[in-house]
Amino acid sequence: MGASGWAQKAFAIAKTLNNADLLVALAELKSDYADRVTEIAELKQRIRTLEDRLSAGITMLFRENVYWRQIEGSGEEGPYCPKCWDGERKPVRMLQREDDFRWWCSVCVLAIQRPGMEPPEPPEPRQSDWLRSRY
Ligand SMILES: [Zn+2]
Repeated sequence: MGASGWAQKAFAIAKTLNNADLLVALAELKSDYADRVTEIAELKQRIRTLEDRLSAGITMLFRENVYWRQIEGSGEEGPYCPKCWDGERKPVRMLQREDDFRWWCSVCVLAIQRPGMEPPEPPEPRQSDWLRSRY
C-alpha cells in the first residue's frame, strides 16, 4: 500500500471515530506530503539540469570505440567509457593493464579491445605421449 493508500485508510478510521482533531492533523499531513512530492520532483529536475551543465563543458571525441576528452591547449586524455558517456553523460575513465588486450570500465564493467592488441590464443590442446606414439 502506497502513502496515499495509507492516508485514505487513516481518513476513513478518523471519520469512523468522529475525531475532529485527528481529521485536521491528517489533512495537514496530507498537505505536507503533497509539498514533499512536489519538492522531490523539483530537486530531480534540478539534478538533471546540473548534470547537463556539467557534461556540457566536456568535449569528447569518439575514436577506437571509446571517447577521448579534448583538453584545450594540452591535447586529449582518456579513454573514457562509451556506455557511461552515451547513456548517462558520466565521464568515466577506462582502466588498462599493460598485459591486457582490453580497456575496462570500473563502473559498468564494459570491456573494449585496445587497437593493435589481440586476445591471447587459446592454448593448444596437448596430445599425450600415448596418443603421439600411436598416430
Ligand atoms: Zn562504463
